[in-house]
Amino acid sequence: MSLGLNTRARVFQKTGGKCFYCGCDLDFKTYHIDHFIPKSNNGKGGDNLVPSCSDCNLYKGRLSVDEFREKIENSIYSSIKGRMINKYFHLNNSKIKFYFEEADNIGDL
Ligand SMILES: [Zn+2]
Repeated sequence: MSLGLNTRARVFQKTGGKCFYCGCDLDFKTYHIDHFIPKSNNGKGGDNLVPSCSDCNLYKGRLSVDEFREKIENSIYSSIKGRMINKYFHLNNSKIKFYFEEADNIGDL
């Protein structure tokens, strides 16, 4: 899918340039656009597009946000996915919370 510069700018601004999931700073030129509700699950429209780093976008894949959270939680004890755990574990001591759930500068989609 090819998206215009306007769409990239609008999606980027939804979080002020932070990854929707882990909250890391994004580079405008290289950031990924994630389908919050997967396309395979009928996710459509500009409201469904959120800014994401490549790690989160690729790791989330076609999962819903709840399935994505579960995948991270289930991999806490797997050293292979250590990088993803390090991205999220600091956000909350016991429960995986994504950036968009904790940041108060993000409005409703
Ligand atoms: Zn991320």
